[in-house]
Amino acid sequence: MKKLRIHIPTICQEEIKYSFHCLLTHFLGLQIEFIDSEDDQYYRIEGHKGKSLLIENHFFQNPNPKELYQLSKIPKEVSSKILAFSKMEFEHICLYGKPELEVNPKEINLKSDIIAASFFMLSRWEEWIYEGELDRHERFPLEASLSFKSHFYQRPLVNEYVELFIALLNELGYSISNPNKYKAVISYDIDMVQKWRGIKSFLQSIFLNLKRKDFGRIINDKLSYFGNTVGLNKDPYFSFDFILDSLKNKKVSAILYFKSGVSHPRFDKNIYNVSDPKIKEVFKTLHTENVEIGLHPSYHTFDNKEKMREEFEALQIANSNHNLVNCRQHYLRFSIPETWRIMDEIGFKNDSSMVYSKEAGFRCGVCYSFPVFDCENRKMLSLQESPLIFMETPILEDEDKIINQVEKLTGIIKKYNGENIVLWHNNNLHYKKHRRSYERVLDIIQGN
Ligand SMILES: [Zn+2]
Repeated sequence: MKKLRIHIPTICQEEIKYSFHCLLTHFLGLQIEFIDSEDDQYYRIEGHKGKSLLIENHFFQNPNPKELYQLSKIPKEVSSKILAFSKMEFEHICLYGKPELEVNPKEINLKSDIIAASFFMLSRWEEWIYEGELDRHERFPLEASLSFKSHFYQRPLVNEYVELFIALLNELGYSISNPNKYKAVISYDIDMVQKWRGIKSFLQSIFLNLKRKDFGRIINDKLSYFGNTVGLNKDPYFSFDFILDSLKNKKVSAILYFKSGVSHPRFDKNIYNVSDPKIKEVFKTLHTENVEIGLHPSYHTFDNKEKMREEFEALQIANSNHNLVNCRQHYLRFSIPETWRIMDEIGFKNDSSMVYSKEAGFRCGVCYSFPVFDCENRKMLSLQESPLIFMETPILEDEDKIINQVEKLTGIIKKYNGENIVLWHNNNLHYKKHRRSYERVLDIIQGN
């Protein structure tokens, strides 16, 4: 196919090109070329036989990009409508412009600015300019996001736009289909590898389970603790054998994020050393089993490049100098765009930290990996963000809720042939109930 020719305004081109690049080139593999246009009211895509697709520009109209990223530019509310044409229907949420579409023989006019809306979701600029209160771990809160306030956090808005875009381009005379394939990934944050650290840890666990009146877990703890003390069984947090066994015959990729540093006395309960021969042995087994390894940088690294680099180097050395490309922030602590920039400068190729810790969903509005954009420096980085969708901790004890959420989101992700990345902590694989939920999650997410 020839390159798609796209006429764009001469202002804010970095941002506009990034948005088109993600939607058309990165997600759909299409070649595009840009042509400067004097008209800043539209982006115009040339079709066959003089036909054009016009997408109204309702955002990139200020030559000074700093003026763009203002609280007042975040939509107060969103509008939604079903857009119908050529016997197809698209449930559409519009952030900028109007949810309207006109299809004429010579011209298609989309009044909803999906270029600005995609940029809004992918660049996360609403987090960058946020001035409100952060949560107790200094994180941008779910409740402050437009997607939560406007009830579309569990819809991958950008994927919806990609499907609409494909249909509109086909209406222009092209023949385009979505080349993506469904992929399931189970990831593990290795915060701790040792539950039994003397009698105190045993009594603490018994006390917690007594409070819960969970006598099954008390018996489990006793057997586990005394068995471990006399060397009969491994520590329940050293669950690597169980993890590898659970992955056998499953159509899922796996990645384990290890911690190699401490920067907070309480929130980095890092009681292992990646250079410990026992951990190095785990690395070797993971390599043989084709399981990926990533860094789980400690609590105070999200805004500290030197500290993150130190931990990157420590893990790389411990892992026999294998190329370290994957990263996920401990506690999902993140500062947009600084943390992305730090990871990119250190040399990571991939981050997967972007889900709100409270609830599963699509924080960046997408279930495909995408290159990130540094809105402060106005440029696309090499680093890619992989969509983390679900984390078990906030609903660990509610098996039904875990299954419902994972089933619901997996159904949506399969519809778009997206990446279904879930997170389960290795220290939540001790008790029967947790293992059962975990195994059910594995069954749900794997492809057909
Ligand atoms: Zn962690």
